[in-house]
Amino acid sequence: MLRYAPASVRKPSVSHKDEDIQITRRRFLAAGMAASLSSFNILVCNYEKDILPNILVFMPDSWRGDHVGVRGYGRPVCPEIDTFASTSCYYFRNAYSQSTATKQSVASLFTGVMPSVHLAGLQPNTYTVSIDSDEQADFTTRTQTIRSQFKTLAECLSSCGYHTSWISANPVVNDAPTFERGFDTVITTGPERKLEQMEEVDRWLSESAQEPFFTFIHVYDPHFPYLEHFPYSATGKCFGDLFGEDVFELIDGLPQPDKTILRLYLEAHKESKDKYGNPLELAQLSKQGLSVVQKLYDAEIRSVDERFGRILARLKSTRVLDRTLVIVLSDHGQSFSDHGVFYHGHSPFYHQIHVPLLIHLPGQSAPTTVTHPVSTYDVFPTLLTLARGSIPDYVQAQTLFSPTGQLSVSGDRIVMAEADMRRLKPREWDVTVIQADTKVNEFQALGAPCVHDDKDEDAKRPCSSDSGIRHMKTLLKQKKAENVALAKAFGEPEWVSISKETVDVLEAIGYL
Ligand SMILES: [Zn+2]
Repeated sequence: MLRYAPASVRKPSVSHKDEDIQITRRRFLAAGMAASLSSFNILVCNYEKDILPNILVFMPDSWRGDHVGVRGYGRPVCPEIDTFASTSCYYFRNAYSQSTATKQSVASLFTGVMPSVHLAGLQPNTYTVSIDSDEQADFTTRTQTIRSQFKTLAECLSSCGYHTSWISANPVVNDAPTFERGFDTVITTGPERKLEQMEEVDRWLSESAQEPFFTFIHVYDPHFPYLEHFPYSATGKCFGDLFGEDVFELIDGLPQPDKTILRLYLEAHKESKDKYGNPLELAQLSKQGLSVVQKLYDAEIRSVDERFGRILARLKSTRVLDRTLVIVLSDHGQSFSDHGVFYHGHSPFYHQIHVPLLIHLPGQSAPTTVTHPVSTYDVFPTLLTLARGSIPDYVQAQTLFSPTGQLSVSGDRIVMAEADMRRLKPREWDVTVIQADTKVNEFQALGAPCVHDDKDEDAKRPCSSDSGIRHMKTLLKQKKAENVALAKAFGEPEWVSISKETVDVLEAIGYL
């Protein structure tokens, strides 16, 4: 049985640390944070504790929006999530992240503003690494993070009365202390600690969660490398059990150099669990080789789906689901040499920003598919709306539901995504704006803003003189200018130090 205590009864702060898992409990006084927001709307919650829903956000990393069964993907990659979506969720077919990179995207989820406004990033313009050639010398790193003037989602929900927790496996955000603001409990695990992370989730739900709770679970998979499913889960299933194909037989049937590249890649990982692999190696593969890589990726999604199924089963068996709002989404997508690039963190191409988004309202027993474009950072005002909190007036995201749970997405909604592309000035970042079926990109490498067909961005065509396109181009320029102005209102960037160990991991998984 789950054990819950009234929200007003919180556990005292505790601190636990070991070499693999770090747990901290931190509380920040809402009054102190509000003082720094004097020029903005001060957060006021007019909630009634008894009717606040619990909130559980489940966020796999790098899950592209077309690898979902409910969208029509041919392989059974996520049966648990498909069933949930097709019976009791709002499924947003056209949901887009604000960035192609983890940290920028998560910071947007946590603040409700675009990356060029919050300026929390990882690329060299916002991230510096100073490495002395002498290994004995001091090693100094720092990263630009969420500025203190922003109210984070967890801070907002905490001041509404929520018991908050963040259970994350991605070191990109785990080592950015300000991301922890507002969370009562922070549990961080490394990318390879998949089962340990789920044990922590189980433990938190069964022993620590106090209603109403808000828990944000950031799962590392299906992020590169696509290897950890040998065996992929507690049940010991592997690729062949899932899809009826032996991955090594598939590889042996590939032409060279694909066969050698993938053989070396998989064998190297089997010999050393610490080796993450190099995405650049796989970028050399032909289309045929990449199709095998996508199958490996799908097996990762299947393992994520199994983990979600465990959480859902727990919520159902304890009837906590009846009063819990559940969100499933990803921080960005992934390119498999679509548009000539492999991995993510590139320009905001369709496959790097199109992600799954499911929202289950408490008690919902019928599905709804929403086709209008929406942004994933809309989760910020949506949760505050449904939690009866006030939304800071600088927030750019839009709520997806009214306070009574009515869908409030309009067809003319404009969504935007950005990528810093290692450029110092946000004015020079690559940008995509989408309205209905039209997408306009401004990628510096391509020159002036251009229009792309929805998915086939390799087949770019110049912006026409069509009035709708002219409108989109004007809109793109306006949005960029608005973002720069809003960013300035929050003052200078803020930096935090990160450890050498984290830098090593980030390098190993391809972030640096
Ligand atoms: Zn990510």
